[in-house]
Amino acid sequence: MNALAQKLSEERRARLAAERLLELKQAELQAANRKLGRHAQALTVEISQTRAQVETFRDENQRVKSDLTAAQQRIAVIERRLWHSIETIQDGFAFFDGDTQLIGANRAYLAVFDGLEEVGPGVSYARLLQLITEEGIVNIGDHSAADWRAMMMDRWMTPDPAPVVIRLWNNQYIRLIDSRGAGGDVVSLALNITDSVRSERALKVARDKAEAANRAKSAFLANMSHEIRTPMNGVVGMAELLTETPLTEDQRLYVDTIRNSAEALLVIINDVLDYSKIEADKMVLHPEPFDLERCLHEIVMLLQPKAREKGLEMLIDYDLFLPTVLIGDPGRMRQVLTNLLGNAVKFTLKGHVILRVTGVPDGNAAQVHIAVEDTGIGIPADKVGHIFGEFNQVEDAHNRKFEGTGLGLAISQRLIRLMNGEIWVDSTEGQGSTFGFRVTLPVPDGAAPVLPKLGPGLRRVLIVEPLVANRDILARQIEMLGMAAEMVGSGDEALRRLAEGGIDLVLVEHGMAVMDGFELAEAMRAVGHAQPILMMTANPSYAETDPARGLVQGLLSRPFARRDLFDRLARLAPPVVVATPAAKDASLRVLAAEDNRTNQLVFSKMLQDQGLDLRFAANGQEALDMLETWQPDLIFMDISMPVMDGQEATRRIRALPGPLARVPIIAMTAHAMDGDREAMLASGLDGYLTKPLRKADILSAIAAHRDGGADQSPAARIAASPLR
Ligand code: ADP
Repeated sequence: MNALAQKLSEERRARLAAERLLELKQAELQAANRKLGRHAQALTVEISQTRAQVETFRDENQRVKSDLTAAQQRIAVIERRLWHSIETIQDGFAFFDGDTQLIGANRAYLAVFDGLEEVGPGVSYARLLQLITEEGIVNIGDHSAADWRAMMMDRWMTPDPAPVVIRLWNNQYIRLIDSRGAGGDVVSLALNITDSVRSERALKVARDKAEAANRAKSAFLANMSHEIRTPMNGVVGMAELLTETPLTEDQRLYVDTIRNSAEALLVIINDVLDYSKIEADKMVLHPEPFDLERCLHEIVMLLQPKAREKGLEMLIDYDLFLPTVLIGDPGRMRQVLTNLLGNAVKFTLKGHVILRVTGVPDGNAAQVHIAVEDTGIGIPADKVGHIFGEFNQVEDAHNRKFEGTGLGLAISQRLIRLMNGEIWVDSTEGQGSTFGFRVTLPVPDGAAPVLPKLGPGLRRVLIVEPLVANRDILARQIEMLGMAAEMVGSGDEALRRLAEGGIDLVLVEHGMAVMDGFELAEAMRAVGHAQPILMMTANPSYAETDPARGLVQGLLSRPFARRDLFDRLARLAPPVVVATPAAKDASLRVLAAEDNRTNQLVFSKMLQDQGLDLRFAANGQEALDMLETWQPDLIFMDISMPVMDGQEATRRIRALPGPLARVPIIAMTAHAMDGDREAMLASGLDGYLTKPLRKADILSAIAAHRDGGADQSPAARIAASPLR
């Protein structure tokens, strides 16, 4: 029993152990199963991901493939279009690779090779050049074939070949333009420029023709002006002489009319001449130092009578700090100013004309700004733009009564432009106009006005002038001369100051309230003040006739330039140099070479009361002969003469041995074209007068000689000659 029980318990233990083992194994199995399950799941996920990727790659592959096809198609289209374009160009087009081998060319490029088989892709540039010379495709001119090829090849090999023009056998002109790109590729353009070469040539022929015509026109004008001036000399000269003879009132009127008409005609001739000269680019400026202020005053003086007739006041306002001597062409400057001022007077019926001059220093030059202001009829706004055009005048009921050529402003504008300046106008119809221009003019060294040498007795000047502005200007001018200036505003004050003593000179204004200038002079003399008195007056003709005129030593008519004041003061001072004795003048021998009988008569009549010994030669040869036999002191030489002209005669005189060669010679010429001046100076002339001759000009030429030509350079005398 025991054994059984034991056996039973053993069995039970064994069963229990087996059952535990089983449980254990089962648990292990389950764990393994779970792991397997998870693994399978992970695998499933991985598989599906991979599948998706494969799907995407396939799509992409598909897309790339179709893109590539599209791109290829596009390239094909582009290439087709490019070739189509290249073929369409009428000019030659080709490209070469870095080894100078032809990659492709259009038909136009290939056409010149006229079907030569080997000309196609792969042919080298050198071979092309070879073929060109062998087949005579290009006209290589004087070059040898080898030279030409070497030249073309050298050019081709440069990094950036310059364009070159070649001429084909059939006279077509081709411009080769080659452009080197990346990797040494060259794009080559062959442009057919035959048409433009031809039209350029035709244009040049046309231009040469036009220029020749223009030259002929200028020469014609020069001639015509000469032809007109010669008889005009007779008209103007005789009329001038006639005015010096006793005449009835009527006769005087006729003579004056002849003279005025002749002068007016000369102005027109000169205008037309100037205009055509500027048009033909023949106008040359002759810059030289000149006194601008003086020039303005002279013009105002010239126009003063006309202005006074109309009751117009003319004023000059010259910038005190602007030098008066500047470098410019005085003749042309005068011409512009005369035109502007003349117009201002012409188109103003009442009021005033003011000339304002201001300057801004600009290095060694001054920017000069000149404005001419009038209170005249003005210019309608829609006409302002036209008046600078040639032959343009404001034509309406308003100004039909004003004469003129309509060239003045056109010429002025061109002259100012020639001086690199500008000109403008500002105008209100019915109120007036302001014409202005601006030019930059160099200031010569030492441009300060030439100061007169004053006598030692003039040290202190009393200025009697009510206007403070005028007074200050005067005081500064007086002080420039090294004198002391004192200023008072009225006659009473002046008398009080004079009583204190120490005053050497009185500068007094004519028109003063209470006590005018002459009354002051009378009062001064009455109390024994004997100082010289200079009187400034705006009304010289009135002042001239004042009963007290004899009490004052000089009259200055306003407006006056600094130089006028200085000259006046210098004349008060005792003369330092004694004038040459008159006896020598009486025997002054003057030879005039002049072929025209009328002009000989005019000349001799103009000089008849000068006590000169005057003789005539009818041509240059006669003048030369008379120089040796008669030995004149001065020669007036006409330029155009038969047998031997004036320039030739002058050249021969200058070439003579001894002192005869140095006789002063003054030309008389009817030529008024630029360039004549240089030609005349080159032939050794000392100066010249332009026909028609004026008595005053001849006399001043003689006076210049009498005053000792030695200290006056020929240039100075020429500057004084009236050639426009
Ligand atoms: P011209 O005076 O000989 O007719 P211009 O060329 O000098 O020729 O002038 C052209 C025109 O301009 C004149 O005819 C006139 O109508 C107008 N003009 C010029 N200056 C003035 C001025 N100061 N006032 C009014 N009009 C003027």
